[in-house]
Amino acid sequence: MQVQFITSAPQQTAELGQCFAPWARGGDIFILTGDLGGGKTTFVAGLAKGLGVEETVSSPSFTLINEYDIGDLKLIHADLYRLAGIEDIEDIGMEHYLYQPHNIVCIEWGEKMGTCMPSEYMTISFNYTEGEEYGRTIVFKSCSDYNDKKLIEFNKMASRKGLL
Ligand code: ADP
Ligand code: MG
Repeated sequence: MQVQFITSAPQQTAELGQCFAPWARGGDIFILTGDLGGGKTTFVAGLAKGLGVEETVSSPSFTLINEYDIGDLKLIHADLYRLAGIEDIEDIGMEHYLYQPHNIVCIEWGEKMGTCMPSEYMTISFNYTEGEEYGRTIVFKSCSDYNDKKLIEFNKMASRKGLL
């Protein structure tokens, strides 16, 4: 299933991330795709805030992976934009972060995982909304019962809050 939002300011995208925080659990993997400047990092910053991260979240485009402690959990924020090929994914040890019950993993440009792509994940795409400088179309897609349930609940909460 999929759920679509349109935001019209960076703060709204961050707020969407913050509101999604209760549905992010240890072991979860979020593949963030879409346009450069689409709002992926802005969303993760909001998600981090919602998870209780106090540090400022910045783009991991140079460090490739940033880690933030959240009690017993960790938010792992990766950005594969600069990755040249599949060998690089192995070099940075991406697979060691996946499926760990204490890791919530967000991977910008996650589609570059190729054959290293995990089997269970949720995709969130961020694209410019045509004709609107500050408009972004954000689509959450699930391909499993586990993530469908999250999206059903998130959708209910989002419409209650007027985010849809
Ligand atoms: P990405 O990580 O996808 O490349 P960023 O979150 O780093 O994108 O940057 C998004 C840029 O677009 C920021 O400069 C932000 O101010 C701007 N922007 C404008 N409108 C929005 C919006 N509705 N949501 C998110 N970012 C927006
Ligand atoms: Mg980014």
